[in-house]
Amino acid sequence: MNTFEIGEKGKGRKLLINLDRGEKLLESIMEALNKADMKNAVCLSCIGSLQKAYYNRAQGLNDDMILDHQYIEGGLEMVSMQGVVIDGMPHFHFSFSDLKGVYMGHVEEGCEILYLAEILFEELDGVNLTKVKNEKGIAHFTQK
Ligand SMILES: [Zn+2]
Repeated sequence: MNTFEIGEKGKGRKLLINLDRGEKLLESIMEALNKADMKNAVCLSCIGSLQKAYYNRAQGLNDDMILDHQYIEGGLEMVSMQGVVIDGMPHFHFSFSDLKGVYMGHVEEGCEILYLAEILFEELDGVNLTKVKNEKGIAHFTQK
């Protein structure tokens, strides 16, 4: 993993992350953000390729959230990923494809880079929020 800080803290600082084959997507992002002391950030861009993808999708309309956990292995082109990190807690959704189709969902730990990933974050300044789970276990933004 290589990381490059662009700009200054408090002035829209960016973090460019370059991941290599075999590195973990979510785990490496969090390591890079922690190292840069960037607790609140938005993912501006994320492209690359994956060899393992772990993700989930909401299923049904029940009050209690039911997640459909998925795992796909193979040559996967990562088309995009978006989401935010608030108070050090990430929430990303991504889309990727192989020759059979396009897949998308909530990014879980364990996703592994095939050739590379290029990811750009912008720090969100002045954020005083955290995430708290409600009675259904769903985390929502809350003022600190
Ligand atoms: Zn999600």
